[in-house]
Amino acid sequence: MHIAVFADIEGSFGIWRMRQCRMGTAEWQYGRHCLTEDVNHVVRGAFDAGAARVTVYDTHEVGFNCLINKLDPRAGYVGGHFVSPTFYGDISDVDLALYVAIHAASGTENAFFPHTHYGVFSEMRLNGRPVCEMDIYGAYLGEFGIPVGFVSGEKIAVDQALRVLPWTQSVIVDKREETYTAGEKSRNYLREGRRQLRDRAAQAVREIKNVRPLITPGPLHFEAEFRTVELADRFNTWNFTQTDRTIAWHAKNMIDGFDKLNMLTFYPRNIYSLRRPLSFFNRCFYRIKNTCFSPHPNSEGAWMP
Ligand SMILES: [Zn+2]
Repeated sequence: MHIAVFADIEGSFGIWRMRQCRMGTAEWQYGRHCLTEDVNHVVRGAFDAGAARVTVYDTHEVGFNCLINKLDPRAGYVGGHFVSPTFYGDISDVDLALYVAIHAASGTENAFFPHTHYGVFSEMRLNGRPVCEMDIYGAYLGEFGIPVGFVSGEKIAVDQALRVLPWTQSVIVDKREETYTAGEKSRNYLREGRRQLRDRAAQAVREIKNVRPLITPGPLHFEAEFRTVELADRFNTWNFTQTDRTIAWHAKNMIDGFDKLNMLTFYPRNIYSLRRPLSFFNRCFYRIKNTCFSPHPNSEGAWMP
């Protein structure tokens, strides 16, 4: 059994503000410690339940958020994004996906750093319905035959994920500063929270027969509402249908629709033919930069793992 642990960062235990998720800052260095701890507990849970192989897919921003040399050495590691065979690289023999540290959808009120796929969107809709990342990533993985069996993150993010993936195990993570800056109390909260990560991840792997790949039948109609008209104009290099700040496209299935979303978001027309070497370069560059040239951590008074 090969388990994929997908890592975002916003929904990590220990993280309460945006700078802790922003690559290159001293606070992000702290955020990386938090995320690595969370990921390690999920990895341990997967092995507890008999996984033969576990691979961590580090996907926030350009990848390489986890502290690779502090990850459970039994796990494989893949950082960044790919063009083929999938956006996450080779996932052909993955049996189950576990999603660590997710966040709420663009436009969610009172949520921590809510966005869907990229910060430029104020709302993403699928066949007229607002969606979160799990609607898209879950169905994308689903079309490769991979179910999602676990999510962790703040309550509203988990609720949104459970709407589309009702069979998943979940762990709720608090996003208030005072939860993480109260000394011994914070330490106990983190210890208990991460114990839950390990237990629920193990349960997800043990109960793999109860989950199924998410399939959202096509045809699909995507609408990406940008924060401003100027952003929509700038990003619409492919001349998708545009009405003010909303760009729309049709897709035969989620793989097709997600490819088009990535064309819109990351691959403007003028660099499209270079996307393979560019994504390869990005992965090499950020692996080295984030491993060898990291700022000193600033934990802002939190208890640090
Ligand atoms: Zn993220």
